[in-house]
Amino acid sequence: MTHPDLAPIRVTLLGTGTPQPDIERFGSATLIQAAGLNLLFDAGRGASLRLTQAGCPLGALHAVFFTHFHSDHTAGFADVYTSGYIPAPFGKRRKPLRIFGPEGIEEFAEGMQMAFRGDVRERAIQSLPVEATRLVPSRISEGVVFDEHGVRVTAFGTYHHDFAPTYGFRIDHAGFSVVLSGDTAADPRVGDAARDCDLLVHEVAAIHPSMQDDAFFRDVVMKGHTSPEEAAAIFSGARPRLAVFTHIVQIPGGAMGPSVQSILDRTALGYDGTVIPGQDLMTLDIGESGVHVSSALAEQAHA
Ligand SMILES: [Zn+2]
Ligand SMILES: [Zn+2]
Repeated sequence: MTHPDLAPIRVTLLGTGTPQPDIERFGSATLIQAAGLNLLFDAGRGASLRLTQAGCPLGALHAVFFTHFHSDHTAGFADVYTSGYIPAPFGKRRKPLRIFGPEGIEEFAEGMQMAFRGDVRERAIQSLPVEATRLVPSRISEGVVFDEHGVRVTAFGTYHHDFAPTYGFRIDHAGFSVVLSGDTAADPRVGDAARDCDLLVHEVAAIHPSMQDDAFFRDVVMKGHTSPEEAAAIFSGARPRLAVFTHIVQIPGGAMGPSVQSILDRTALGYDGTVIPGQDLMTLDIGESGVHVSSALAEQAHA
C-alpha cells in the first residue's frame, strides 16, 4: 500500500461547517496538496488555524481559489493573507499571493489590500518586501483555470439559488481526481464533472421534519443546497470511489437539528456506494490503493 505521505493527491478538510459559529466545524476551506503545491479552496472562518494544525505554513500557499463570495467561504481569508506575509516561520511569503474566483475577485483583492494598508505600512519598517503583501486576482469562468506542475484545476458552474456566479472545482493530477461541489443545489454539472472521479466532496443540507413547511428554509435555503436524496442521485450518476459530505447544513426544529447519521441514512436509501461525513482536519490521501482516510481529531482523541 502506498505510504500516505507519498500519495499523489492529499486533500485535507480544514473547515466543514456553515455560517453558524461552531468550534467543531470551522468555515469552508479545503487544502489540496499535489506535486509540492499547496492549493487552498475557500477560506472560511478559522482557515489559518486549521492550516497551521494541518502543518501548512500560511506563507507556503501557492494559490487560493474561491467557489463564491458568501462570507462563510471568505471570512477567514484576511488572516491567511496578512499573517502569511509576516516574516516568521508560519508566514514568510516573499511573493504576491494569487487568488482565483468568480466575477468580483478584483474588487475583493482591492478591498482586502485597502483594509490592511496600515498593516502593510507598519510592517514595511520590518523590511518586509512589498511584493509579499500584494494579491494578484484572476477572474475565473468555466474551464481550466490553473495548470502547473501537472496539477490542473477546472472550474464548472453550479446553481446556488439567487447567489451567482458560483463554481465548483475539479482537480486532476497524475491520473487521479478530486471534485469539490462548493455550495450548490443539486446540479447535474457537478455529477458530470465528478464522473468516475476518485473523491467527490459534496455539500449537503437537511431540515428537521418539524421545519419542513417553513417557507424560508424550504423556498430559500433549500433552493440553494442539496438534500441527502438529491446527493444520492448525483453520487449514483457519478460513481466516485468515495463521496464525502462537507458544509453540512442541519436546520433545527427546536434545539435539535437532523443528525449526521440521519443524513447518511437518507443518502443510503438512494445510493449504495461509500459516503462518509467529513470532519475538520480529516485527511484523504488519493493514490493507486484508493482513498486513504485519516482523522487528526480522531487520532488526538485516541492518543
Ligand atoms: Zn454559499
Ligand atoms: Zn456556504
